[in-house]
Amino acid sequence: MIFRQLYEPLSSTYTYLIGCEETGHAILIDPVIASMERDLAEMKRLGLTLAYTVDTHIHADHITAALEMKSAVGSKIAAPAYDHLPCTDVGIEEGKPFQVGSITLQPLHTPGHTDGHFAYLFNDRVFTGDALLIDGCGRTDFQNGAADALYSSVREKLFTLPDEILVYPGHDYNNRFVSSIAQEKKRNPRLGGEKTLEDFKEIMANLGLPYPKFIDYAVPGNRQCGVCPPDLPNNLENYCRQMAKSPQG
Ligand code: FE
Repeated sequence: MIFRQLYEPLSSTYTYLIGCEETGHAILIDPVIASMERDLAEMKRLGLTLAYTVDTHIHADHITAALEMKSAVGSKIAAPAYDHLPCTDVGIEEGKPFQVGSITLQPLHTPGHTDGHFAYLFNDRVFTGDALLIDGCGRTDFQNGAADALYSSVREKLFTLPDEILVYPGHDYNNRFVSSIAQEKKRNPRLGGEKTLEDFKEIMANLGLPYPKFIDYAVPGNRQCGVCPPDLPNNLENYCRQMAKSPQG
């Protein structure tokens, strides 16, 4: 198994590359359109071809590379069936393993950050998207998010995985890379230890976070599996790959 944790700095997103050595096929979990060339170059360097892009949820802070990857290299698009996106090739559901070569993801419906959010359990690790971050979690105030749903998703689903399972988050804003179920259960300041649902709801209601600057462009774009809006303001241009300048045409 080939594994790479790739970082997109504008949105502090982690993209995960998993390659099957027997078939040479790869999947990318949460690829970002702005880092598409880098991801393609990495797969080429590793002798892998991209079979699927797999998103954890409809992102509000970046545009997925799913659709552009599909047109560039013919990869298929997998995303939670819950969201009913017409552009997906495979709708992911809990209880239905997602398999590419020797790679098998066990999808876990983990609503709360968004209602259709999924985490993916893969062997000794879990890709938690924005449901569970290292010492944190995704916000719950947009996209049908709900603090009580996220509390159950994390405490009753993710925290019931074995302690030694590695936690690979969808983002990190402080240069951390990986955690574990044991570590998050023990010291996650929002959801770990003895934190009750009431504690968590109070924390989430008082974060005082600003309105997400890219959400009004990202969500409609991601509902189309990754379309850059034509009316992007200058200060947000870097969030989209500039197609005209692309070395791949
Ligand atoms: Fe998110």
